[in-house]
Amino acid sequence: MHEKELLMINQNELRILQGALETLADGFSDLPDFVPDYDWAPMAAVLQQAAKRMQDNYPYEHPLYAGQMLKPPHPVARMAYAMSMWINPNNHALDGGRASSAMELECIAALGDMFGLQQPLGHLCGGGTMANLEALWVAGRLQPGKTIVASSQAHYTHSRISEVLGLNFTSTAVTPDGRMDVAALEEQLESGNIGTVVATLGTTGMGAVDPLSEILELRQKYDFRVHVDTAYGGYFHIASKLGADARQAFDRIPEVDSIVIDPHKHGLQPYGCGCILFRDPGVGVLYKHDSPYTYFSSAELHLGEITLECSRAGASAVALWATQKLLPMIPGGEFAQALDKSLLAARALYRFLDRSDNYRVLMEPQLDIVVYAVNAKDAVAASEKASKVFEEAAKKDLHLALVNMPSAIVSHYWPELEINQESVACLRSCLLKPEHLEWIDEIGAILDEVAAG
Ligand SMILES: *Cc1c(COP(=O)(O)O)cnc(C)c1O
Repeated sequence: MHEKELLMINQNELRILQGALETLADGFSDLPDFVPDYDWAPMAAVLQQAAKRMQDNYPYEHPLYAGQMLKPPHPVARMAYAMSMWINPNNHALDGGRASSAMELECIAALGDMFGLQQPLGHLCGGGTMANLEALWVAGRLQPGKTIVASSQAHYTHSRISEVLGLNFTSTAVTPDGRMDVAALEEQLESGNIGTVVATLGTTGMGAVDPLSEILELRQKYDFRVHVDTAYGGYFHIASKLGADARQAFDRIPEVDSIVIDPHKHGLQPYGCGCILFRDPGVGVLYKHDSPYTYFSSAELHLGEITLECSRAGASAVALWATQKLLPMIPGGEFAQALDKSLLAARALYRFLDRSDNYRVLMEPQLDIVVYAVNAKDAVAASEKASKVFEEAAKKDLHLALVNMPSAIVSHYWPELEINQESVACLRSCLLKPEHLEWIDEIGAILDEVAAG
């Protein structure tokens, strides 16, 4: 039997999970007998139906899935999550999950350590959207009436969250490599009333890393908060193969006011695991509420007092805790080496596309996302060809993603292209799985084959 059969539960996994559940049960063995009564047969039937329904998915775990930003959870995360389901802890309050709340605090301390923060205030949450919402909510509370800015390549969630929170939002232009244009930002700061600058370290579309160093330098002249949205890119902080610009940006993270990182993106976690960190633990007072339900059972602020969400899966904390134990977030460690492989995979695909006559690759990847157009005479034809390649590649089991890029950015890398519409549909490959590195030749061969056909 193969060690890793796609989508099959490994016998080791089953055995390890069983062993962990036995240990968990030992902790409750002195209770009076109580055996929940279930009828298993109908469950098997329903589960078969569910499994059939679930066949309608892309094979995210396979290296030939090279499209959207997806990465399978690590088996240790999956097992830890499953094991804790037998308790189903709720990290809203200590009454709902004492152990998993303590584990969450350890996870937060470890993430803070990774970024070089001394004693951040933070917690896990449903994902990057929720985490960014908390960051912008705090920013708005501290600077009422001031405007939030993020680059035009920042995640759309920032403008929408600002709308939800009733905050003014404006976007800043980017340079053709997708990074925030610092000169344009300075003009906005000069005209005043900017309270917070959102720097994206790893944009979702292009994987561009905003020039955090230059942004922070502007604080010598202007007074503003800096929030770093590194939902996708955060873990690259411990990679060793970043280019110089990206390295410089990541190195300045300890100086910012708040950070968002999504363990469910590059951190090997099941969905439902985002994280917000504030450098100044003093912002905790902003969360003060007087719920009659949440018992203030300890002198320290507990998680229910520093989150906007109420009920939250304690299982997410258990899964992340187990993953961090197995794969510590240290430069040069196994986890960091896997991130380096993703960086190398993106560079290898970039080189392949750069040599191919069928494709026009855009910016050199700063992280592990590659964006490329299909060669054609004009923007309309290139867009049509991109859709065609997307469909034909899928028939050969290679799954890509489509992204609309502003024509101005595409022209920078492809000056001969006739621009007859505002945007160009391009292909986008997020190479988040380290295994991609071994599959670039195969991916390239399919890309050439479908472009020619
Ligand atoms: C994914 C992402 C988000 C949104 O996070 P979710 O976990 O999908 O809610 C926000 N910002 C960036 C940069 C992202 O990559």
